[in-house]
Amino acid sequence: MNMSLVAKNISKTYGEGDLAVQVLHDISLELAVGEKLAIVGASGSGKSTLLHLLGGLDHASQGEVILAGQSLTRLSEAELNKLRNQHLGFIYQFHHLLAEFSALDNVAMPLRIRGIDNDEARAVAKEMLTKVGLSHRMDHRPAALSGGERQRVAVARALVTKPSCVLADEPTGNLDAETADTVFDLMLDVAKSQGTAFVIVTHDPLRAARCDRVLRLDHGVLKAH
Ligand code: ADP
Ligand code: MG
Repeated sequence: MNMSLVAKNISKTYGEGDLAVQVLHDISLELAVGEKLAIVGASGSGKSTLLHLLGGLDHASQGEVILAGQSLTRLSEAELNKLRNQHLGFIYQFHHLLAEFSALDNVAMPLRIRGIDNDEARAVAKEMLTKVGLSHRMDHRPAALSGGERQRVAVARALVTKPSCVLADEPTGNLDAETADTVFDLMLDVAKSQGTAFVIVTHDPLRAARCDRVLRLDHGVLKAH
């Protein structure tokens, strides 16, 4: 089967010597193309650390992560940035949008980074914002948007480059239940239409159950749920 993201025996230890704390223990994971994987687990169990390693935002202490057939361990920072921009999208609990930019320019940003010219980037971004139901909010800055609208912009930004995989760390954790449902549905809809795989960290069992597979992190050990 085609894999979108593979982790082979990754471990993570923070600190050194007496202060060393092993946070992830020998985690292996294969994410199929288009697969939606939910990861659940108590606070402090290592969920965010795992997503950081999968996204190449931090290095594993042992093992390797393979994205689009390439091992992240051997790449330079520039190569890693390029691979990330081509194949990954990120959604966080807090939107991380650029405050000085409109919704449209925030969503156009990953395309601009890719070297696509401004007019085309904005046209594609407009289309994506329309898909997430924000055609009437494109020129607003994040501060002028509601929490749910901001997360919809974040969803649009993560998916606008048609990445093979989106890593979402409690993407609806900061929203009321009804808004969370809307944003979650939207995320899955857009991902489905693009064949995007997802790794979603969530505390909500009902949302986790809507994914193809659920795994649990227990003190840094990945287990069947
Ligand atoms: P979760 O997302 O499941 O709540 P985290 O991955 O954020 O868990 O954290 C897992 C453990 O790793 C926690 O005990 C946390 O204190 C520790 N940790 C996270 N980041 C660092 C860091 N940069 N330095 C040292 N310890 C860290
Ligand atoms: Mg976390």
